[in-house]
Amino acid sequence: MPRTLVGIHAPRVEIGKGGLGATLDRWREDGGVDTVFVTTWSTVGYAATPHSRYYANTLLGPPVGRGDALQQWLREAAVREMAVYSALSETTGPDQARRVPGWVNVLEVDVFGRRGDDPCFRNPDYRNLWLSIAEDQVKNYPVAGICFALDRATPLTHFLSAVAVGDPARHCTPSCFCPFCQAQADRQGIDVDRAREGYRQLLDPAGPTAAAVAGGENPAVVVFRILLRFPEIAAWEQLWMQGYLGLQQQLFGTVKAVAPQVSVGWLLSEQYASSPLRRALDPLVERSRFTDFLCHATVRRNPVTRPVLGLTARTADAFASDALGATVAGLSPAEPQEGRGGPPWTYVHVGSPADVELAQAAGADGVVYTEELAPSEARTQMKAVSKTVRRRGDKP
Ligand SMILES: [Zn+2]
Repeated sequence: MPRTLVGIHAPRVEIGKGGLGATLDRWREDGGVDTVFVTTWSTVGYAATPHSRYYANTLLGPPVGRGDALQQWLREAAVREMAVYSALSETTGPDQARRVPGWVNVLEVDVFGRRGDDPCFRNPDYRNLWLSIAEDQVKNYPVAGICFALDRATPLTHFLSAVAVGDPARHCTPSCFCPFCQAQADRQGIDVDRAREGYRQLLDPAGPTAAAVAGGENPAVVVFRILLRFPEIAAWEQLWMQGYLGLQQQLFGTVKAVAPQVSVGWLLSEQYASSPLRRALDPLVERSRFTDFLCHATVRRNPVTRPVLGLTARTADAFASDALGATVAGLSPAEPQEGRGGPPWTYVHVGSPADVELAQAAGADGVVYTEELAPSEARTQMKAVSKTVRRRGDKP
């Protein structure tokens, strides 16, 4: 039975009176917190000290540091025998492109040959940036774990969401058709031109999808028709997923090579739970080979995918609410994994007593308070959530 965990996401900005030490004491007293998740990479910058010698293999260079919050949290937590996990979020979008020289070179290429907003997981410079940060952190900081937030929608999921809001052409640009991804497709015998043509038929504003949706046809019927005609779209979707999971496998191996005692885990957003396509493409039992823990966002129904998949409100609710249980069960391989002590642990983000009940009913191994519960004015709410944690025996 794994150790239960009561974590909290430390806020990125203001800390209450008395500084970090007093804040940790308060969290422990109010919420029984034993582990702090410190965001070290996000849209607001890098909150640790980057060491340039680890970044020789990436043109993107070390991330720009904005103070060493990680060091400060580690110092205060050590005094109190609390654990610190580093939380790293994928940071994409135009701001990042403006800030980082060379960032545009690692962006995905969409089906029309244009650069996209997000970097390609196969691009060596982007991949090496992540591997460098992981190595830098575990070699220089005594973190107990790293939680990577690399949760992105797949190209087809993006498209389905765009269809659901009625504007597939404007909001959707399936990727990635960069040279690295095309070369991988060639190696696997996937016809690049057919994949491109299939996506274009889905996307063309004067094409069959748009016309059928405008005419009142259920978009699911049209989408499935084109998917059957162009199986290369499904193959491309899997190709994208291989690149995405490939980086995660390398991150796991990098951390374990340097510091086997450091736990490696992944944040799964609501998007994972509520997308049948994503869950089909990314079975958790396969992730258990490179996962120590999963941090699961509390599951709520995603209204966007419902119309595309032809789900009723009731079936969509049922689909989303079984997702947590499916996550916990899905992480337990039928056969023991070589070199692994047991199935990965599952932690669930909680912001209310109802969330805690949901997590515990699903068999989660721990809870992580969301950032909203961290400020000093949220003390009453944290105490209320914590009561449920204690009542259900989640805290040893
Ligand atoms: Zn690519």
